Amino acid sequence: MGVFDHPEFDQHESVQYVVDEATGLRAIIAIHSTVLGPSAGGCRRWQYANDEEALTDALRLSRGMTYKNAVAGLKFGGGKSVILASDSAPKSAELFRAFGRAVESLGGRYITAEDVGCSVEDMRHVNQETGYVSGLPKNGKLAGGDPSPITALGVFQGIQSAVKVALNTDSLTGVRVAVQGVGHVGLHLCRLLHAAGAVLVVADVNQEHLRLARDELPVTEVLPNELLFSDVDVLAPCALGNILTSQTIPLLKAKIVAGAANNQLATEADGKRLAERGILYAPDYVINAGGIINVAHEYYGDSSEDQVREDVARIPERLDAIFEEARDTGRPTNMIADELAQNIVANARANRSIAA
Ligand code: NAD
Repeated sequence: MGVFDHPEFDQHESVQYVVDEATGLRAIIAIHSTVLGPSAGGCRRWQYANDEEALTDALRLSRGMTYKNAVAGLKFGGGKSVILASDSAPKSAELFRAFGRAVESLGGRYITAEDVGCSVEDMRHVNQETGYVSGLPKNGKLAGGDPSPITALGVFQGIQSAVKVALNTDSLTGVRVAVQGVGHVGLHLCRLLHAAGAVLVVADVNQEHLRLARDELPVTEVLPNELLFSDVDVLAPCALGNILTSQTIPLLKAKIVAGAANNQLATEADGKRLAERGILYAPDYVINAGGIINVAHEYYGDSSEDQVREDVARIPERLDAIFEEARDTGRPTNMIADELAQNIVANARANRSIAA
């Protein structure tokens, strides 16, 4: 299937295929929109079943970044890159440098950072070839470094908001939360939830990540294919996307879905399915914006960690406004968030045309 007739194609500004013979690098860089500023979004390294699946991910994730950056009030458009992991292209400094050269060739229209499968160290290699990269090692008290702890903080605060609305309590003591994926964000989230008195159920397909969680925190482990259906108050997806579907939603027991994973809904209609079941859904790109807020402040070199935390503390306000509108209108939260983002971009586009 081509790009233009792909179901996830949504007027993306460009889709670049990257190949580097020496390192085996194969990547896709999708720029959805630069209306609000240079496109920004992380680089995901993942073993896809085929090129088609990688393209789908790049198209969906980059559009999600446009929406995320818009709602978070950042001067960034939306972009995302995926590196196709394979045995013939093992992780190496040279592979990330080749990826960095591809980012550099876009002349600043795309700013990258780490996402699933990539680390601060990998971004250091990218930075040897391009300045259009964030999520680099921290420089003193300035914003920077691994964005995951800040993402987890925003998700934690978002869960507090959702719990207040759906469970009518200010306290997380005794609230049961199922965390799917205890990687970079999931483990930090578990720490915050535990400190607030929540009861944790976790699953991960990576045994080492699971061991780290088990050694540090009182968690109940369940099998990855059972986690979604745990008897809990909150489901916090912190692994990959497309988990909320017409098959899984009828079986959920949680009253709230609020987590870090991007593209949790398989389709827009799944937001409606959740609403019809009375499950409060915190739109993923609203609740997980902490990381990109950190990345933005680092990139522009304009703030301290404390300022980033102040900005992240506005995530619950945005969620509260969406929850309130959903309650008043009976519309699904994902549709309200999408419209909000689309309006911000449309207004900026209109203002740009007037200025030109
Ligand atoms: P990560 O790779 O560090 O962690 C993901 C974890 O999920 C891994 O431990 C992996 O083994 C596990 N996993 C994968 N499939 C699973 C399954 N079926 N069941 C259970 N566990 C499974 O990634 P991360 O940085 O923690 O990101 C997690 C999610 O949050 C991703 O969707 C990412 O796009 C999103 N996100 C991350 C950030 C950030 O700052 N890192 C920011 C915004 C959004």
